[in-house]
Amino acid sequence: MAEFDLIERIKRETAAARDDVRVGIGDDAAVLAPRAGQELVVATDTLVEGVHFPAATAAYDVGWKSLAVNLSDLAAMGAEPAWATLALTLPHPDEAWVTQFARGFAAIARTHEVALVGGDTTRGPLTLSVTVHGFVPRGDALLRSGARAGDAVFVTGTLGDAAGGLARPDVAALRERLDRPTPRVAAGRLLRGVATAAIDVSDGLLIDLGRLCDASAVGAELDAPPPLSAALRETFGEPEARAHAWAGGDDYELCFTASPAQETVLRAAFGRLALTRIGRIVSSPGVRVVDAEGRDVTPPRRGYEHFR
Ligand code: ADP
Ligand code: MG
Repeated sequence: MAEFDLIERIKRETAAARDDVRVGIGDDAAVLAPRAGQELVVATDTLVEGVHFPAATAAYDVGWKSLAVNLSDLAAMGAEPAWATLALTLPHPDEAWVTQFARGFAAIARTHEVALVGGDTTRGPLTLSVTVHGFVPRGDALLRSGARAGDAVFVTGTLGDAAGGLARPDVAALRERLDRPTPRVAAGRLLRGVATAAIDVSDGLLIDLGRLCDASAVGAELDAPPPLSAALRETFGEPEARAHAWAGGDDYELCFTASPAQETVLRAAFGRLALTRIGRIVSSPGVRVVDAEGRDVTPPRRGYEHFR
């Protein structure tokens, strides 16, 4: 199968109409119509087989996840997704694999009305590099840098499930969170004008909240337990489940700061999506975990970092 046929296959499987796409896949470049009065928000994330997903992961799930992790970055900025490009590097021109991959990609693209408008296809170790583009009203993007002492720290959903699914792929509810993460796009948009800072949890809560704190020149004290799913708690027991929630990567929940007074309004707006206050922002740097009496707790692990 030739490169051209693979591209045609991807184009067919992901076909989606957006009236702001003047020229999509097929020319030398895409031609897109940005929106007046809005800012363009752009993010890129790469998935490498064996690093970001296990080698045995189904092609459909790789397609889903390659776009989902990117949409999570847009969610953390409060942006509305619009367009994506895909750089696909494949060891072999495997039509069946590409078809399933494109279907997984298309499934989440459709959910968020994202059009795949171009990309590149090359031979090499299996690597997916996706770029997404979205919009926010001018000046409304959620940044990492706005947290202030006295803000509350919140997270959406539950944490640690993806790490649990990596350790115990036999537990379907956990493995599902690892393979098909749900980017919190709607929640991110609701946080515009409410959150003082936001980040998505891709490398682990302690690391990612640490990044938010560094960007804001503050610290955080986690004085409440992290939100755990029943599946995680039942599979690992409370202490190990908490360790996964603090340090596990790949959850793609949002961690954000806001005035404690916003909690009730946000909870109502989020509907079925869980919202949990896990701590507070303090002026001294670093992220500390403390127990109910305010004593320091040492988490067994802090998280995953490339090049460490
Ligand atoms: P060029 O040599 O001009 O870069 P390509 O053959 O790489 O042309 O791409 C042809 C068209 O197909 C372009 O519109 C490009 O954006 C699109 N394309 C190539 N690979 C992909 C891919 N993996 N996913 C989506 N679009 C792709
Ligand atoms: Mg090209």
